[in-house]
Amino acid sequence: MFQCTGYAAQSAEAPLAPFSFERRDPGVSDIEIEIVYCGVCHSDLHTVRDEWGGTLYPCVPGHEIVGRVTRVGAEVTTFKPGDLAGVGCMVASCRECASCRDGLEQYCEPGFTGTYNGPEPQTGGHTFGGYSSHIVVDSHFVLRIPENLDLAGVAPLLCAGITTYSPLRHWKVGPGQKVGIVGLGGLGHMGLKLAHAMGAQVTLFTTSLGKEADAKRLGADAVVISKDADAMAALGESFDFILDTVAAEHDINAYLALLKRDATLVQVGAPEKPLPMQVFSVIWRRRNFAGSLIGGIAETQEMLDFCAENGITSDIEMIPIDQIETAYARMLKSDVKYRFVIDMASLSKAA
Ligand code: NAP
Ligand code: ZN
Ligand code: ZN
Repeated sequence: MFQCTGYAAQSAEAPLAPFSFERRDPGVSDIEIEIVYCGVCHSDLHTVRDEWGGTLYPCVPGHEIVGRVTRVGAEVTTFKPGDLAGVGCMVASCRECASCRDGLEQYCEPGFTGTYNGPEPQTGGHTFGGYSSHIVVDSHFVLRIPENLDLAGVAPLLCAGITTYSPLRHWKVGPGQKVGIVGLGGLGHMGLKLAHAMGAQVTLFTTSLGKEADAKRLGADAVVISKDADAMAALGESFDFILDTVAAEHDINAYLALLKRDATLVQVGAPEKPLPMQVFSVIWRRRNFAGSLIGGIAETQEMLDFCAENGITSDIEMIPIDQIETAYARMLKSDVKYRFVIDMASLSKAA
């Protein structure tokens, strides 16, 4: 075991604060990474506040991790000390079930192990995430980071990037299709960039009046204020695919109504409370309402390589770790432009 520093919440009501803890030394197939940057996902906030239930405290969040390899286990051939490395939302899975064999570890039948808030058999405790100095992860779950991209802007690709890339690929989004992205936050801005790079014609739906110019710069061909009923009605039933990234309660029927026959709305945003669906929203035009969870490890690598080829990174606002509560408060006001990333060098000053 070795000593790490990080930031943790001790309860659903407590703010994040400096926290010292031990991690396991790397086993034969493990990689130890010194964390350089960690993105701030809305799931971190849902989890530290126990909005989904089941949060284990102390909770060290963070699953958009990039850094440098410091130690590798004896059987690791894929990385060596000094290499750049990334870790996303998963650090283990059974590796044997049908989903794992298909490279879909996020749908592992016994359940994958989250980068934070998951069981950790090696220590008997639970996993601690990337708001910390180091992490130790089985090499299967460590991603290669393209050298040509800005490292801080790569961190959010490990969750916001893959969570939007995976459904866009699964539902075969491409040229000639009209695609909607709902919500311009961390996931939504990656959805705009990726759908645009895949050749789709992209419309952003937003509740914020001030995001139109940014949305166009990020890849939107059109921007619709979702509270404007006339603008929504004028769209008709014209969409081939809609990706909903909204983190709070909202009316999904308003978006289902915009789909063509047989088209699909994929929900990736995960609000605390249920989203009521009118059955006629899907009976009419035989529409599909689906969900999607992050992405598998091979697909995450494919997404990183796609981003390297297309020069895509996240638009970030860098923060020192002692500003995390301010960042959460801004996230709750939809004031994210468009992902906070923690500079982990700030940890030694704050801890
Ligand atoms: P975020 O940066 O906070 O963005 C969410 C966006 O939703 C906001 O910027 C805002 O965009 C819109 N929004 C917020 N409140 C709203 C409301 N009351 N009504 C309508 N729109 C509202 O969050 P994020 O990190 O992108 O995460 C989004 C959601 O996806 C979270 O629930 C997160 O837990 C979930 N998530 C799911 C997966 C998965 O695998 N399925 C993975 C990662 C995250 P506008 O200002 O443009 O309206
Ligand atoms: Zn996330
Ligand atoms: Zn499995």
